[in-house]
Amino acid sequence: MRANPADVCIIEDDTAQRALLFRRLIEQQFSVVEAEDAESGLRQIRQHHPRVVLCDLLLPGMSGTGLCREVRSDPALDGTYIIVLTMCEIVDAKHEALNAGADDYLLKPYDPSELLARLRNGLRISHLQERLRRAALTDALTGLWNHAQFRELLDREFSRTRRYGGAASLLMLDLDLFKSVNDSFGHEVGNRVIEATARHLRQMVRETDIVARYGGEEFAVVCPATSLEDASQLAERIRVTLPDQVRVRGCEQLRLTASIGVAATTDPQAQTVTDLINLADSALYVGKHGGRNRVVRCDELKETPAAEVVDCNEVDRLRKQIHSLSMQAKELCLQSIWALVQALEARDPFTAWHSRNTMAYAQDMAVAAGLSKNMQEAIANAAMLHDLGKIGVPDQILQSVAPLTEAQTTIIRQVPQLTCRIIEPLRVFETETVIVRHLRERFDGSGYPNGLAGRAIPIGSRLLAVAETFDALTSARAHRPSRSMRAALRVIQAEAGRQFDPEYTTLLAQVLADHHESWRERIEQARVALSAVQGEFQPVLDTHSAAAARRTHDWN
Ligand code: GH3
Ligand code: MG
Ligand code: MG
Ligand code: MG
Repeated sequence: MRANPADVCIIEDDTAQRALLFRRLIEQQFSVVEAEDAESGLRQIRQHHPRVVLCDLLLPGMSGTGLCREVRSDPALDGTYIIVLTMCEIVDAKHEALNAGADDYLLKPYDPSELLARLRNGLRISHLQERLRRAALTDALTGLWNHAQFRELLDREFSRTRRYGGAASLLMLDLDLFKSVNDSFGHEVGNRVIEATARHLRQMVRETDIVARYGGEEFAVVCPATSLEDASQLAERIRVTLPDQVRVRGCEQLRLTASIGVAATTDPQAQTVTDLINLADSALYVGKHGGRNRVVRCDELKETPAAEVVDCNEVDRLRKQIHSLSMQAKELCLQSIWALVQALEARDPFTAWHSRNTMAYAQDMAVAAGLSKNMQEAIANAAMLHDLGKIGVPDQILQSVAPLTEAQTTIIRQVPQLTCRIIEPLRVFETETVIVRHLRERFDGSGYPNGLAGRAIPIGSRLLAVAETFDALTSARAHRPSRSMRAALRVIQAEAGRQFDPEYTTLLAQVLADHHESWRERIEQARVALSAVQGEFQPVLDTHSAAAARRTHDWN
């Protein structure tokens, strides 16, 4: 695939006819190269990769049919469209040319407009073939070479260095902790991050370097005629600039890092292409175990004396132990927070069950959505924690029996951000913090705090918003009565695509159908608990109709 192939190559031994054809095509704005015999024609084809070859059948030396055979036997010339031009009306000659690989033929003297029409068809087919070829070799998300083409190009480069000497180098890059990007911001944002990484790599490398998506969030860069030293410097430049260059809407706070392994064909252990890939991969692996966000060269692998080799098993074991400890700490922390949330909710009998029930609905939805275990857990925790910020809201607002004033609404709106302020310092609640921060974004982009829209809103926030509103609508508030589950579902469905992600309003309907009984029991429990203490609110409840209900985020 050449960047700028010529449109047409004319091969014609008759000088006058060649000149006439050349002029006609130039007038039509085609880029044209020409030759007077098949041998020089082949040279032109190999040099300029024309999309269409217009070739006279009778030529001195090699015939047009011979040229067709030559072109068709060279894989580098795949996709060249050949039209043969001939005086002879001998059927055999035409058949012979077609059998040798010609795509089309025209009898001389030809009608110029017919020639142009056939030429344009040839160009169209050649363009389509190129698009197909490109699609088969590139990765759809990033437009980089795909894994198979990477192997092909690396094989070629490797053989070239073996034949002609010199060095080629290979960078293997793996994004650090990418799973947590998906978990925190959703798969779609993860994809945008992968695209942005691909753009960054393209910008950083030379034109002759080959950038490929090796798989998932792993990339490979082949650097022809590049020493290990120079390739390592390139890797370091990529590593240092990555966090600032990969900026994606919806995860502005993300500081993406990558670990990079570098290997060169000059390494004595790089006997085959597979050895070279394994060397770069081992260096990458050492980078991951060394703490990530680093470049490791293949010559560092063996320079480390045996006694000082990192004991990855030990490191991994300790890592697992610490992980388990931090999970225990997280659990303890959750228990304490849960106690706090319950104490807080007790201040307002109308919301006493809100976090608990929201958590149950969100959990059922997260399971049904097929989200990862980690994500299910983060959503459940976020549901449990989301109203912690109410600690900063005065009692008279929480317990207000009258619809809230504008100023009071403004305070209530701040609850998720207040919650974030409280849980932010706890790194173990990183994902939960993100979910709560964006809980009041609206799918149409008119929410707050960042006006995120659609899938830029973290997945957990989109799901939890639906679950939370469902609980708010199905329970009574001081200033309005509760709604039936069916009515609540209708209200939420009416906001699909506006306040809520349609995917999750649809999911709510399905999950509600599956869990109808257990959800009804929860609502009933909350109602019974409320009726035990609501005596003082009864007159207000009686006078408030459903019409008093205002925008859903004030109903919580
Ligand atoms: P490490 O630093 O050890 O590499 O941690 P990691 O979380 O990046 O772990 P690992 O490389 O094992 O996981 C890669 C994750 O990348 C797993 C997979 O869900 C995600 N992933 C792979 N391909 C894609 C993709 O095309 N789009 C998105 N959004 N995520 C992908
Ligand atoms: Mg001739
Ligand atoms: Mg990976
Ligand atoms: Mg990774």
